[in-house]
Amino acid sequence: MIVGVLALQGDVPEQTRAIARLGVQVRPVRSPSDLEGLAALLLPGGESTTISDLIDRAGLREPLTTAIRSGVPTLATCAGLILLSRYLEVSAEGRDPHPLGILDVRVRRNDFGRQRESFEAPVRVEGLRGGPFPGVFIRSPRILLVGPGAEPFAWRGSEVVGARAGNTWGLTFHPELTDDPRVHRAFLQRARVARRSV
Ligand code: GLN
Repeated sequence: MIVGVLALQGDVPEQTRAIARLGVQVRPVRSPSDLEGLAALLLPGGESTTISDLIDRAGLREPLTTAIRSGVPTLATCAGLILLSRYLEVSAEGRDPHPLGILDVRVRRNDFGRQRESFEAPVRVEGLRGGPFPGVFIRSPRILLVGPGAEPFAWRGSEVVGARAGNTWGLTFHPELTDDPRVHRAFLQRARVARRSV
């Protein structure tokens, strides 16, 4: 089973480590041919405008969109979620990324006050046993709305911090930056089931 990690910018080494520790083969995705035969895909955190530009430069926009839409299970964190989203609020800061427009959520980038730009907080993730997940938030986006095409599955208090549609998952926090493998493991389990049913 080969899992691809979009490897253009961002926390690629951390995502690679987080998924490799579960015993799968990892392939960095830098060009369209890297998408062939993937059992799952990770979209890392980073700087979403930069990643968006690099996606275009690599000729990956169309093949990536097609791969995710055609059902390659995808886990996107933070900037990855921004790229996956269907609706992105225009930010006051300047240049915004062009999202792939797949996951039915509306997001706003960098939506936390300065002193709370980065913080840790417990997160409840549906289906995870063993108590709250340690949520690491780094200049994270906020999910303003989950549309009818997606469902919330992770919360910080009453705030939605994760949404998914089938096997397409987006999180505003970074499970790859913790020692807790439960989110990646749950995602991988879904990916394995998806593979068996094709
Ligand atoms: N603030 C970044 C952006 O808007 C996302 C931060 C992250 O991925 N940790 O692209």
